[in-house]
Amino acid sequence: MKTNNSIKAFQEAKEVIPGGVDSPVRAFKSVGGTPLFIDKGEGAYLIDIDGNRYIDFVQSWGPLIFGHCDPDIEEAVIAAAKKGLSFGAPTLVESELAKKVTDLFPNIDKIRFVSSGTEAVMSAIRLARGYTNKDDIIKFVGCYHGHSDSLLVEAGSGMATFGTPSSPGVPFDLTKHTLLAKYNDIDSLKKCFENSDNIACVIIEPIAGNMGLVPADEKFLQELKTLCEANKTLLIFDEVMSGFRAGLRGASGIYGIEADIITFGKVIGGGMPVGAFGARAEIMDMLSPDGPIYQAGTLSGNPIAMSAGLASINKLLEGGEELYSRFESLANRLSDGLKEGAKKNNISLQTDVRGSMFGFFFNDQLVKNFDDALKSDTKMFAKFHQLMLQRGVYFACSQFETGFISTTMNESMIDEVITKADEVFGLLNG
Ligand SMILES: *Cc1c(COP(=O)(O)O)cnc(C)c1O
Repeated sequence: MKTNNSIKAFQEAKEVIPGGVDSPVRAFKSVGGTPLFIDKGEGAYLIDIDGNRYIDFVQSWGPLIFGHCDPDIEEAVIAAAKKGLSFGAPTLVESELAKKVTDLFPNIDKIRFVSSGTEAVMSAIRLARGYTNKDDIIKFVGCYHGHSDSLLVEAGSGMATFGTPSSPGVPFDLTKHTLLAKYNDIDSLKKCFENSDNIACVIIEPIAGNMGLVPADEKFLQELKTLCEANKTLLIFDEVMSGFRAGLRGASGIYGIEADIITFGKVIGGGMPVGAFGARAEIMDMLSPDGPIYQAGTLSGNPIAMSAGLASINKLLEGGEELYSRFESLANRLSDGLKEGAKKNNISLQTDVRGSMFGFFFNDQLVKNFDDALKSDTKMFAKFHQLMLQRGVYFACSQFETGFISTTMNESMIDEVITKADEVFGLLNG
């Protein structure tokens, strides 16, 4: 496989863009090699600037549930673009998309659109703090909620206490309001509540996709919800990834647990930059202009982005539960195939699936939290990634990411990937 053009493009990009990328994971740091510069997408496939073709399990990190260049979404975007790119004034398509989403979630009366998942979460946290009149928040180690200051936090001297910045540039004064708990561990959450009586919200990825795929235990989520209620703390489900991915109603629908606030992103924008956060009216009405909590955005609810989102959500509603069964059956076919291939070659692989999301860890133990995930063999993953890439299979370039199925995939594509993986597992073992 020739990647000369990508290698050259990467060198040139590094001259003018830090690390050559606009988001760090794209740089392939954890798997080595050069990131592939993409020319275009075609359904299930990516084509790089050297003309290599890959089946794409990254799908722009989640948004492209209908694959690349879906004709309906494309048509909606072109039609909207012809009417003007942005107005900074209300448009009908915003209310239409808002109605579709609020209809799906019984706990969401109103929703506000922003331009990224980061912005959605940041705004949701301000809303929770303003609504409860409390300052502290709890997050779980290994969950990612975007790159806003108070969420770039790692455990300080110990768990369940105030976090410390995980990046230079984040003042300790901001992270001292963020407490860290262990995923799927209710005792660590209880300790957080013991350490502070000023907790505005607990934020969680109910199906974590940013430490690899690690779904929460149902009992854990139920106890979490009960603890939040007892402490008059809002529960935020960050469904930026799991929303419309794990199921039509996301993790909220799968577990049947109603969070106070839900954040969305990725699929809700159909490939355009969109985020959103929603809650019951009493909470959302605290936002300006009706309420005192400030939140705004020049390009929020952008008509092109809203049109792409609406076209996607309409198609998902049309497909309904049947569509998600099909996703899950393809995802299971892939993960079962990978597991079997690994086993034949004495490689331990942990796999899991939720709707169109799948994950696999080179790990001999079940992964329940970030500590468990970190025990995975990242060197073996890096080799696997590289060898699969050479065979035209584009998996996420880190052990700690989730893979995605799109409607453009089918059984024979999956079987082809399994055959290639079998061969690669053989090489890894040798
Ligand atoms: C991707 C993601 C975010 C951040 O969204 P951006 O659009 O990258 O800012 C937040 N939360 C979760 C769960 C995500 O997966």
